[in-house]
Amino acid sequence: MSIYIDPAVASSLRGFEMPEKLGFGKVMAPVMFRAVCQDGCWSRGELLPYAPLALDPAAKVLHYAQSCFEGMKAYRVQGGGVGLFRPERNAARMVHSAERLCMPPVPESLFMDGVRTVSAYCANLVPANSGESLYLRPFLMGTQPDLSVSTSSTCEFYVIASPSEAYHPGNMRLWVERENARAALGGTGDSKVGGNYAASLLSVARLKERGYDQSLWLNPGNRRTVDELSGMNFFAVLDGELHTPALNGSILEGVTRDSLIELARDLGYRVREREIDIDELLGQVESGRCEEAFACGTAAIISPISVFGDGEREYRPAKAPGPVAERLRAALLDIQEGRAEDRFGWMQAVEAVGE
Ligand SMILES: *Cc1c(COP(=O)(O)O)cnc(C)c1O
Repeated sequence: MSIYIDPAVASSLRGFEMPEKLGFGKVMAPVMFRAVCQDGCWSRGELLPYAPLALDPAAKVLHYAQSCFEGMKAYRVQGGGVGLFRPERNAARMVHSAERLCMPPVPESLFMDGVRTVSAYCANLVPANSGESLYLRPFLMGTQPDLSVSTSSTCEFYVIASPSEAYHPGNMRLWVERENARAALGGTGDSKVGGNYAASLLSVARLKERGYDQSLWLNPGNRRTVDELSGMNFFAVLDGELHTPALNGSILEGVTRDSLIELARDLGYRVREREIDIDELLGQVESGRCEEAFACGTAAIISPISVFGDGEREYRPAKAPGPVAERLRAALLDIQEGRAEDRFGWMQAVEAVGE
């Protein structure tokens, strides 16, 4: 199905001025992609000027959190082009999230139309410095306007974009969260749904008062093994091997996590996906067996962990950043920005539209 391009898109793009200071996710590109699903039937995709949405106040998303999203980037590739990194993984994950919330899955072709069209029309807005990118935010929500708790007959899919600086949270101080949970057994932890993030905020607000940056979530079933952070997956380096929690239904399956596992194995590291007992891990940090730990996700790629706070105690990995994290970060960014050969076939070029 062809994509409708609103005639006002050209003037929105022409009138857009890139601010000097970008930040991360703060500046919005002046266009957005939209498609609507009514009773299981998808409309044609449209590229529109970026604008506020008109939502009925009874729309189900506003009351029952029927919403899911994706986070991905369009990269400036060496030589000047624009590339997407494994976008089919994001499309598949959004299908999984939509199905978990009883929303019609966005067909892969429509998802790809959305991210490709926005990237193509915004090709000039993809910043050029290493680490900068056009951050893409596809999202889907139930908009049927009535207050019954039931699946929504109408859903809307959007893709918005934000030219962004490199996102460097720097070394992170983690708080081992032993009371709150972001996900439940049998819940939505492995889906990228809005409610998970709302559920994480209180823990983060409390730990910030104590001088920490992020919660380290434990498995909601056993309260004993490490799951992940609120928006990033977890790795520890033990005796030179990489260890990451095995997927278990409450962990969100990160594209970065998956890519780092493959990349690390290719670089000769042994990688183990397993249950990681938090007390055992803290003991290994204390004894020096765990020399480094890091979190990973699309926004920052890899962020070293400098401290684990647990009750009154603190545990500090010897190296933050450590050599393994630095090597993997550079190797992944080299592929994403086209400096290294794309050995795994991860990149998809986007043809720019316009001048
Ligand atoms: C998005 C997200 C990640 C990281 O996923 P990437 O695909 O690597 O960006 C990890 N954990 C949670 C909870 C997330 O929402």
